[in-house]
Amino acid sequence: MPTALITGASRGIGKAIALRLAADGCRVIVNYQQQADKAAQVCRQIQQNGGQALALPADVSQPEAVAQLFAQTQSLFGGVDILINNAGIGHFGLLTDITPAEWRHIFAVNVDGAFNCIQAALPHMIHKKNGVIINIASIWGLVGASCEAAYSASKGALIALSKALAKELGPSQIRVNCVAPGVIDTEMNSRLNPEEITALKEETALGCLGQPEDIAAAVSWLISPESKFITGQVISPNGGFTIY
Ligand code: NAP
Repeated sequence: MPTALITGASRGIGKAIALRLAADGCRVIVNYQQQADKAAQVCRQIQQNGGQALALPADVSQPEAVAQLFAQTQSLFGGVDILINNAGIGHFGLLTDITPAEWRHIFAVNVDGAFNCIQAALPHMIHKKNGVIINIASIWGLVGASCEAAYSASKGALIALSKALAKELGPSQIRVNCVAPGVIDTEMNSRLNPEEITALKEETALGCLGQPEDIAAAVSWLISPESKFITGQVISPNGGFTIY
């Protein structure tokens, strides 16, 4: 049974990915930062459906915490076969107003977090000459969002990281891909008012926001043998918000 570690899996998109990969037959590590109760609930749901799951905390921006997360996983299950770098934070505001500390924090979680986890996961994957890494980016990393320059830049960095690593790790049979969601109905978008939600739906060809399960479905395909020839690609489930 492959072991899949999903960062930021206590709620939202990460939770949907954890539930889906467990249903696909993976043993799931439900990483979270603060909300232990929600992470435990995700594990209970998986176990009630006959799957295997364990919740482990770690702030992915902290290399020591990530090292401990992977050491625990290694000693319990022998390493991570599938890594989903999903943990991420948003930031809304003009670039002229953002402080250096805020800029650094966004990059620390969204980019350094993925780097920390990938570096910790690789020894096992390289040893096995097998592995799947999926980085959850955003459409804003592809096309940019006004008042979300730092967030857009961090997601663009994840896309470039995925492409470079796909080349570097291909010879070790490790596939690296990116999923770049459109606007998805999660707590991350709770700051939006009803008028803004309506405007976003109108900008989306399919006329609705995406659900976390829509992203989980793309991830499920990307970890499956069906996608064994896919690496270095960006898949964007976005309802037609961006088409090019
Ligand atoms: P969310 O509902 O805000 O959930 C965020 C998750 O990340 C939570 O599980 C949270 O853990 C965890 N997290 C936050 N900071 C962390 C850290 N430093 N270390 C470990 N875990 C951390 O977000 P979401 O909407 O599901 O988004 C998930 C991913 O999809 C993010 O990378 C986001 O940028 C991307 N995305 C989202 C959308 C969207 O419209 N929602 C669109 C494009 C891309 P706790 O519960 O413990 O705090």
